This record gives sequence, structure tokens and C-alpha cells, in this order.
Amino acid sequence: MDLDAIVIGSGQAGVPLATRLAKGGKTVLLAERGELGGTCVNTGCTPTKTLVASARAAHVARTAGRLGVRTGGVSVDFPAVMARKDEIVRIWRQGVERRIAGAAPNLRLVRGHARLVGERTVEVAGERHRAGAVVVNVGTRPVEPPIPGLARVPWLDNRRLMDLAELPVRLVVIGGGYIGCELAQAYRRFGSEVTVVEPAGHLLAHEDAEASEAIEGVFREEGIALHLGARAEEVAGGAGRITVRLSTGERLEGSHLLVATGRRPNTDDLGCDGAGVRLDGRGFVVVDDHYRTSAPGVYAVGDCSGSPQFTHTAWDDHRLLFEVLAGRPGRGRKDRISPYAAYTDPQVAGVGLTEKAARAAGVAHEVARMPFSHVARAIETDEKAGVLKVLVDPSSERILGASIVGAEAGELIHVFAALIAAGAPARAIVEMEAVHPAFAEGVQSVVMALDRYALP
Ligand SMILES: Cc1cc2nc3c(=O)[nH]c(=O)nc-3n(C[C@H](O)[C@H](O)[C@H](O)COP(=O)(O)OP(=O)(O)OC[C@H]3O[C@@H](n4cnc5c(N)ncnc54)[C@H](O)[C@@H]3O)c2cc1C
Repeated sequence: MDLDAIVIGSGQAGVPLATRLAKGGKTVLLAERGELGGTCVNTGCTPTKTLVASARAAHVARTAGRLGVRTGGVSVDFPAVMARKDEIVRIWRQGVERRIAGAAPNLRLVRGHARLVGERTVEVAGERHRAGAVVVNVGTRPVEPPIPGLARVPWLDNRRLMDLAELPVRLVVIGGGYIGCELAQAYRRFGSEVTVVEPAGHLLAHEDAEASEAIEGVFREEGIALHLGARAEEVAGGAGRITVRLSTGERLEGSHLLVATGRRPNTDDLGCDGAGVRLDGRGFVVVDDHYRTSAPGVYAVGDCSGSPQFTHTAWDDHRLLFEVLAGRPGRGRKDRISPYAAYTDPQVAGVGLTEKAARAAGVAHEVARMPFSHVARAIETDEKAGVLKVLVDPSSERILGASIVGAEAGELIHVFAALIAAGAPARAIVEMEAVHPAFAEGVQSVVMALDRYALP
């Protein structure tokens, strides 16, 4: 054995884990075949939220008249928007590079595609190493759905969309999940004509219907055409002119096609079979509550291990696995509650159970909902779209889940996330003084809309 640990993939779990291990005196090899920082930094969170910020600036300027402010014409300098995005990605990537360099000499970065080739043994860039622990953090990539004709047209995924030099005139988006929705709205606000096709009856289909409907209302108001309950059955055309035939018989035409229909793990050429690392039917690495795979000494973290596919969850995986590797296995990965947010405008955020999930699982609950337009600050800032919802366990008063569609929902959801993590009763929010006029007053108001807390 020549190393303490090998980490495959410099993603959101791999880098913090490799650097912490190295700084703690372990000898570590970090293998990366692409850009440092993985999906989040290069083609995921960072570039999309940077684009969303530019798109929101355009929208706020364009609609400032509703607040009595005249801005004249608003134009979007698309190359400047993309250049800003590239610069922010570059800065993040450099930060990752510095972080890795700062953990030398115990941490060595090797660029190349790594494969498991035996018991805790990895081959990368012509080198073969064996370690006490091997950690797989290889992430996911976009699914290429089996739509007839797709392979013959120049379709975009979230990676290729990041390299566009010109704004699409007409963008068709297949997939109404959070990636499709964020990008659809951003491109609409940049000036593209945008159509979204989603086979489920709603956008963001895992949310309760009222959350999805709130976003659908905003999208339609902004001029985004929605084809819900419609499948793309065939794609044809070529550069600049792509047609999509829908299951409804309709035919859409776009200058560009974005496909955002899900993600698949990067485990197909990793040597898992030979190394005894079991994958599930969709190719995700099967791990137990402490990230152990079926091969002794091999662990998997982040998106590829079937964790909820978020950066913060991958980061938290590193934190928990660090304890496991230090011989202090504590709380398991399955006990966690992962909050999330989609950065549409308004944002959609959730934690714990949705109402439909609670019903499906037969979980007893009390529920309350309240339109975001009842929040004083939302009225003052004219950001009234949205809805708040909370589910509470009738016997313990604990919060089972919450969802917020509204301005800064991604921030507000932390109030619920913290209380759930602390196992605190919803009453704690009733007994808190909420600052007036903060959006967070809405968090208190929706809890007080539960019958048990209603004031006489
Ligand atoms: C468009 C988009 C927007 C997103 N927005 C958000 C958001 O707002 N908030 C959020 O929380 N999450 C968001 N995500 C999800 C987030 O990016 C991922 O959950 C996160 O990056 C997962 O981190 P990871 O460490 O598991 O894998 P990754 O970040 O994907 O890293 C895996 C790394 O492994 C490398 N690799 C793969 N195979 C090998 C191999 N065999 N050898 C060597 N290296 C290899 C890859 O090159 C990659 O660098 C978004 C994702 C996308 C696609």
C-alpha cells in the first residue's frame, strides 16, 4: 500500500475531503479527468446562478415601471453576460486549484480518467496506486433521452449551453425540472422566445401542485409557452432550425433545443465490476449509511452515491465520511434532511415532506398554506407571487416539511430546516418575534395559520 487515500473526482465532496485528510497528515492522491471543481463550479450552480442574476437584473429593469421608475429601453448584452459568467467560474476554479495546492505535499493531484483495477487499487494517467481507502466522487452527467432523431440534431445540455456565443432566437426546452425551469426563465429574460415541454402535468413535478402552479403562472405571464403533460416524440432538423413533435400532435420549432431530463452517474467506465463495487439498476453506487460500498475500503460520496443531487449534500457527505474514516462513525447519511431551492424567480424551496409525499406515505399531518401576497414586504416590494406551506406532526408539533415559493425562498427555508434539525416544535416560530417588515414574517404567519396556533 503506497497511500492512505485515493479520491476519484474533484467535486463538492472530493476536494474538501482530500484536503482535510492531507492537512491531517494523510498521504492522498486526488484524480480528476476534467475541470477542477466538478459540476457545481463549471457547469452547474455557479454558472447558472450567475446567468440567473443577470436575467433578474434585466427583468427588474424592464418592470421597474410598476414601482414608478422609468428606465427607458433595456437591452441585454449577451456576450457580456457570458463573459461575466466565465470570469466568475474561472475565479472559483482557481480557488479550488489554490486549495489543492495548499494541501501539498501530502495531497497530489493527478489529471486523468481514473479506474478501479483491483482491491483498493486505482489506475490513472499510467500510474497504479493502492490505498487504505478509495473514495469515489465521480458525479453525474446529463441523461440523453431516447427521443427518436435526437442524436442527429445539435441539441444542448447544461454544459453546451454555457458555451453559446449568441442568444438563441427560439429556445425549446425539454424538461420542466429545476434545471430546465431556471434556464428557461433566464433565457426568456435575456430575450429568447422560450417553450418548455414537460411530460408531467406540472413544472417542478415533485412539488405540491400549488407550488408548481405559482411558477407556471409567473412563466406564462413572462411569455414562456408551456406544454405540460406532453412528451417529445421526435426531433428533426439541423443547426438553427430544430422541430420537436409532441405526443399531443403539436409541432414546435426552435433555433436551439435544450434537453434537461435528468442526470446519470459517471460510473460506466470506472471498473466497478472488477473491483466488486455494486451499482444499482441506474448505475449509482450502492452505499450503506456510512458510505461503504460492497468492496471493503471503497467508499462513494456525492451525486454518484444516490444522495440528493445537491452541492450542499455532497459537501455534507464529505463531512460525515471524514468522521467515518477517522474511526468515529456518527450520524448516518439517511438521517439527514436536505433542504433545496430552485433559483427560478420567485424561488422555490423546500425541506422535509411535501403534502403529497406525506399522504402517499400515510404520515399524519396538519397543514397550512398562505399566499405570499399576504406578506407585508412582498406587497411593498411588489414581489407577491408565490405560496407558503407547512406540515406539522399533530402529536409532537414537530415540523414535517415546508415549502416556499416566493422572493428569497432559498433563504427563508433555513428557518424551517434549522428547526427540523433541532427537533424543535413549530410553536418555536409562533413564540419568536419576526422582524417587520421582513419576508420571514410570512414564515411565522403560515405556521400561525395552522388551526392549533390560530389566535382567537
Ligand atoms: C445546471 C445545474 C445546476 C445546478 N444547480 C445547483 C444548485 O443551485 N444548488 C445545488 O445544491 N446543486 C446544484 N446542482 C447540482 C450540483 O452541481 C451537484 O449536486 C454537485 O456538483 C455534486 O457534486 P459531486 O461532488 O457529487 O460531483 P461533481 O461535482 O459532478 O464532481 C465529480 C467530478 O468527478 C470527475 N470524474 C468523473 N469520473 C472520473 C474519473 N473516472 N476519473 C477522474 N475524475 C472523474 C468529474 O470530472 C467531476 O469533476 C446543479 C447541477 C446542474 C447540472
